[in-house]
Amino acid sequence: METRHDIIIVGAGMAGMTVALALAKGGLDVVMVERMPLSAQVEATYDGRASAIAYSCFRQWQALGVGAALEPLSCRMNEIVVTDAHLPGAATKKPSPFFLHFDAAEISDRSGDEPLGYMIENRHTRAALHEAVVAAGIRLITPAKVAHIKETPGQVVLTLDTGEVLSAPLVVAAEGRNSPLREHAKIKTIGWDYGQSAVVATVKMEHPHNHVAYEYFLSSGPFAILPLTDNRACLVWSESHAKAKALLEVRPELFHAHLMQRFGEFLGQVELTGPKFIYPLSMALAEDMYRGRIALLGDAAHGIHPIAGQGLNLGLKDAAALAEVVIEAARLGEDIGAESVLERYAQWRRFENVSTSIIMDGFVHLFSNNNPIVRVARDVGMGVVNAIGPARRFFMEDAGGATGDLPKLLRGQII
Ligand SMILES: Cc1cc2nc3c(=O)[nH]c(=O)nc-3n(C[C@H](O)[C@H](O)[C@H](O)COP(=O)(O)OP(=O)(O)OC[C@H]3O[C@@H](n4cnc5c(N)ncnc54)[C@H](O)[C@@H]3O)c2cc1C
Repeated sequence: METRHDIIIVGAGMAGMTVALALAKGGLDVVMVERMPLSAQVEATYDGRASAIAYSCFRQWQALGVGAALEPLSCRMNEIVVTDAHLPGAATKKPSPFFLHFDAAEISDRSGDEPLGYMIENRHTRAALHEAVVAAGIRLITPAKVAHIKETPGQVVLTLDTGEVLSAPLVVAAEGRNSPLREHAKIKTIGWDYGQSAVVATVKMEHPHNHVAYEYFLSSGPFAILPLTDNRACLVWSESHAKAKALLEVRPELFHAHLMQRFGEFLGQVELTGPKFIYPLSMALAEDMYRGRIALLGDAAHGIHPIAGQGLNLGLKDAAALAEVVIEAARLGEDIGAESVLERYAQWRRFENVSTSIIMDGFVHLFSNNNPIVRVARDVGMGVVNAIGPARRFFMEDAGGATGDLPKLLRGQII
């Protein structure tokens, strides 16, 4: 039997669950399809990452009722220090005289005393979003995948591998960067492998992190120390694929020795608090945000390098924009999967998604480069931005996701 809904969302990752909540709060009938049971996704061994969430994106979660569950698990990121570094002992040495220092206090009059962002472990975010999805009465079909797709003039009919048949005038592909629905829609991607993988680990530190995030640019790739609750930090250590694999496989004592040799006494005594994870780094930017009645959202539309922690934030901004466009179209009695509606979504998001992907790609090439001329140029660039107050403040507000034409949810308002 076929069940009809307003919107089918395929992929219940953090972006997919956020848009589901926003659409359901706007009165639409949403169903989700996810290949991986949520109980597996919140295991400590599933995803070791923590994400830096821009304050505007965090406001969206607050507006959707997820803020109370996430606040105790979030660590304010009040300052960010970005600098070039040399090995060994990169963080112990005096920083390069050309560095960037962002301090939330500088824009507190405009941001309402928000931090530059919040650091939250992905598994906590998934659990909180999942709880909210269940509480909102959204049906989540899992484990399940789409086995067959039929597009008719007014709707898309999806047959799942469970045998269930769903139909809707709009389907959202939120399946991450290898989106099968994007392939079905024949939307091409532009992208490449960076030849780097990120090793991610959580450590408990002896010295207080004071809510400061550090990003060191080394020739092998960036190394970030991102503050978490309980004086822990999430390390994102980028290396060539082979070295990253070796770091993943070495015994904890050897990993610890590498860490201390590289970063000296900066962190004080450091203790690994869980497993290490590895993520190959690549870019995959979709040429279109929609085709037919299938709209792309999150990494399905733009998978980028995590050099500045922008990937999920872009997906959360997609969620806010798509929800606003679709809810308003429904209220006006429009066909929510029509090209005229999805084009409004694409126009809202296309520029930021493409420009951020290109800028992040440029950063990767600029900062993973040991050419002395390039090093001098980037150091001077950082020094100049750091010295000019308005430029520094612009970058801080941009990192907070508070620039441009913001959808209501990113301003903390419900649609
Ligand atoms: C090391 C690292 C650090 C990062 N740090 C940050 C950061 O600090 N800040 C930030 O903003 N971003 C960060 N990112 C990027 C961020 O993790 C991603 O952008 C984000 O997870 C994408 O979310 P998503 O919901 O779009 O996709 P995903 O998280 O990939 O979720 C997709 C969902 O779809 C499901 N799925 C897949 N295929 C199917 C299918 N065929 N059928 C049904 N379901 C399917 C999957 O199981 C999954 O649940 C980082 C990335 C890396 C690698």
